[in-house]
Amino acid sequence: MRAVLDQLRSSRFEGLLAEKEPMSRHCSLKVGGAAALLAVPEDMDGLLMLLGTLRDNDVPWLIIGGGTNVMFAGDEYGGCVVRLGEGFSSTVVRKNGEWEIGAACVTAKVLAAAVRKGFSGLQFAAGIPGTVGGAVRMNAGTHEGDFSGICSEVQIAEKDQVQWVGRENLEFSYRKLKLPSGSVITGIRVVLTPEDPRLVANEMERVQEKRNKTQPLGVPSAGCWFLNPEGDSAGRLIDAAGMKGERIGGAEVSDIHANFLVNRSEAKPEDFLALAACVKNAVYERFGVDLEEEVQVVGG
Ligand SMILES: Cc1cc2nc3c(=O)[nH]c(=O)nc-3n(C[C@H](O)[C@H](O)[C@H](O)COP(=O)(O)OP(=O)(O)OC[C@H]3O[C@@H](n4cnc5c(N)ncnc54)[C@H](O)[C@@H]3O)c2cc1C
Repeated sequence: MRAVLDQLRSSRFEGLLAEKEPMSRHCSLKVGGAAALLAVPEDMDGLLMLLGTLRDNDVPWLIIGGGTNVMFAGDEYGGCVVRLGEGFSSTVVRKNGEWEIGAACVTAKVLAAAVRKGFSGLQFAAGIPGTVGGAVRMNAGTHEGDFSGICSEVQIAEKDQVQWVGRENLEFSYRKLKLPSGSVITGIRVVLTPEDPRLVANEMERVQEKRNKTQPLGVPSAGCWFLNPEGDSAGRLIDAAGMKGERIGGAEVSDIHANFLVNRSEAKPEDFLALAACVKNAVYERFGVDLEEEVQVVGG
């Protein structure tokens, strides 16, 4: 990692470079060991320089956004965690209703802007934390809609290239956008519809209120831990398997929403891994269903 740091500094890389950065600070679960390096490129040149340097030095890397759907499981991640900086946080609204949104934009802020400016189309995402880049990669959403339904183009940086990829060439599926390995989403284009701001705000409030009643929002979590199996709900299965309230160390199956594993007090990544294994086991034994993680577990 020393060679990478020296190379980046001598190439005048602008942006934060932090060694041994605890990932618990960057993930909504509030757990996770340290990354050997956290790098925050401030613009596209910086990002391409960083990716090139990591590639030249064979250093593994991983991009995160808001860290709201990811857990770093081991004591240490030996590679570089990349987070996009301010230069990827702008939003341009064109006359035809097209919005060009930087991948580092906080999803909630984009929704607030849509209300202010009177544009409809993003209401389904009310209450989804994290950034737009993470939301597109995860095809985040609810049964009311997801990002695949609104993206017309996604900007992808890969190796030395940056290109806009049209919707017809993007492979979205449930909670996933297939990306070439080693690529980073740097922006998206969506087309929204002009609408009375009060109607947009009311709709977002309705979605948010539903969330407030059904999700444990005051405690650290990474949202739904498991993907819903086809035609069913992971939360329903976990509840029916009697796992609500189950606890290992500081990790607990929420008694408000059984698919949320929450950090009750000073949990460790191992607590979550053990609890998730227990939940999977219970659901398999009772229903013969193999739950699959939605949360992106790194290492461990
Ligand atoms: C309280 C709570 C409620 C939630 N509710 C929902 C919900 O209703 N629906 C839902 O779908 N999700 C939900 N989530 C999960 C999560 O918020 C979403 O998946 C979110 O969109 C992830 O964004 P992020 O920026 O935090 O991504 P991160 O967690 O940082 O990353 C998630 C994945 O995306 C990748 N990634 C991040 N940024 C980029 C990028 N720029 N380019 C390429 N890959 C990238 C990461 O490598 C990782 O694999 C919830 C989470 C919490 C804590």
